[in-house]
Amino acid sequence: MAKKPGANAAAPAAFQFRRLAAGGVLVTNDFGGRAFISDRDFLMYSSGRLPASGKAYDALAAGGFVRDRLDFETLAGKWRSRNDSVFYGTGLHIFVLTLRCNHKCAYCQSSVTGERAAGADMPLSVARKSVDLAFQSPRKAITIEFQGGEPLANWDVLREIVKYARTKEKRTGKKLTLAMVSNFSLMDEAKAAFLLENEVSLCTSLDGPESLHNKNRTWSGGNSHRETARWLKYFNSRHDSQHDLKYRVFRPGALLTVSRLTLGHAREVVDEYAARGLEEIFLRPLAPIGYAKKRWQEIGYSPEEFLEFYEKALRYILLKNRRGVKIREKFAQMLLTKILKSEDSGYLDMRCPCGAAIGQLAYNYNGDVYTCDEARMVGWSGDDIFKAGTVGDKYEDIIAAAATKTVCAASSLESQPFCHRCAYKPYCGVCPVVNYEAQNSLWGQMPSNHRCGTLKGLFDLLFGLLRDGDSRAVLETWVNAGAKR
Ligand code: SF4
Ligand code: SF4
Repeated sequence: MAKKPGANAAAPAAFQFRRLAAGGVLVTNDFGGRAFISDRDFLMYSSGRLPASGKAYDALAAGGFVRDRLDFETLAGKWRSRNDSVFYGTGLHIFVLTLRCNHKCAYCQSSVTGERAAGADMPLSVARKSVDLAFQSPRKAITIEFQGGEPLANWDVLREIVKYARTKEKRTGKKLTLAMVSNFSLMDEAKAAFLLENEVSLCTSLDGPESLHNKNRTWSGGNSHRETARWLKYFNSRHDSQHDLKYRVFRPGALLTVSRLTLGHAREVVDEYAARGLEEIFLRPLAPIGYAKKRWQEIGYSPEEFLEFYEKALRYILLKNRRGVKIREKFAQMLLTKILKSEDSGYLDMRCPCGAAIGQLAYNYNGDVYTCDEARMVGWSGDDIFKAGTVGDKYEDIIAAAATKTVCAASSLESQPFCHRCAYKPYCGVCPVVNYEAQNSLWGQMPSNHRCGTLKGLFDLLFGLLRDGDSRAVLETWVNAGAKR
C-alpha cells in the first residue's frame, strides 16, 4: 500500500510512466500532461516523498501531477481540445469510385481488380446517394475524397459527381473540400483543368527514387515514377506563385508507403521528396491488411526493422532542416501536435476512440458503407463485420449501427488492458481493423501487437528527441506549420 504523503511532500495525482532508454522517467497523465524526471525523483514522487519545492516538483505541478495543485478548468480544456473531434460528426467521406486500377503495387491495400474488370465501377446513382448521405453529417465542413482503385478510371462519374457535390454545397451552405488520391497515370490536360477549376485537391503516391518507386508500384503501361513526377510538377507549378494563386486547392501532396524494399533507402527517399520541392513526407508503415496481408512474408517487416529505417530518415530530415531545407515528416508532426499542443492533428487513426464512422466513412463502389476505408478492405475479403449500412440509409442509422458502436468501443484506450496504463495513452490510438486482421480480435493483444510495437518505438524516439534542445526547436516549427484536416 502507498504510504501517506508527508506534510511537505507532493501528493501524487493519477499518472502513467515509462523509463526512458537514455535514463530518467517520463510521467504522463490523461490530460496530456508530461514531465521528465530523474529515477530518484520518480521514486520519491511515486511514494509520496518528493519535497513540495524544487525543479522536479515544479515540473510535476505544472503538468497536473500534484493532487492539491490541480487546475481542473485548464486540464479539462486540454482534454477537450485533444478530443474535440468526438463532438462534431463525420468529416471525411471516402468514395471508392472504382475497384479498377492499371497498377499492381506490391503492397496495395485497396483491394483492387484488373484494369478491364466489369461491374467494378460506382454507378452515378450510387455516387449521388453517397453525396446525399455525406451531406447529412452534422459537421459544418466535410471532405469528400475520391479513391479507388484508380478514381480516374471512372472519369465520367467523377466529373458528374464533382458538379453535383459543388451544387449541393451551395444549396446547403456547408463547406465542402474535394480531394482525390490518384496515381496520375490516366491524367491529361483536360482532366487536370477540370479538377483545378472545381477545386479538387490532389494527392498521389511517391515511393522514392525511380528504381524504388517502380519496383513498389508496378505499371505495365509505362513508367509510373515518370508520370507521377510529371504531374506533381504540373500541379505544383499552378501553386508556386503564391501572389496570384488562382485555385483554392491544397498544394499537391504525396504519400510514401514503406515496404521491405524501402528499408535500406532512408536517405534516398528523403532526398527524392526534397528534390521535388515537397515540404511533407509521410513515412507510413505498411499495415498487414488486404492484399498486403497475403504478401506479408515478402514485403512486410518487424517493428524494429521499421523503426531503424524511420529513425535514420527522421534524423536525416532534421539535419536537412538545420541546413535550411524545408521538409517535415508527417507522422512525427501529427503525434507531436497532440504531445506539444494538446490538439487533435486530424489523424483519424490516432484518436480515441479512433476516427472510424465518427470521423470517416467509406462508400464502396456498390453502395455499401463501411466504418472506414481499411474496414472496407476487410469486407472485400468476404467479412462484413465493419459494414455500417448502405448509401440508402440515413446518417443517424449509420451512426447507430452495431458496427459503428463496436469500433468506437474497441478503439477506446480505456478499455484496452495494456493501453490503460501506458504512458503514451494520451497521445495514442488503437486500430480495431488491424487488431482483427492480425490477431483475430477487435481488442488485440498489445504485448505482441505489431502496430503497438511500432507506435511505442515512435513515441520513445520522439520523446527522446524532445529532450535535445536542437531537435526540439525544429520539431516545434513542424507542429506550428501543421494544419487540421
Ligand atoms: S479502424 Fe483503424 S484504420 Fe479505421 S479509422 Fe480506426 S484506426 Fe483508422
Ligand atoms: S497501442 Fe501500445 S503504445 Fe499505444 S497506448 Fe496502447 S500500449 Fe501504449
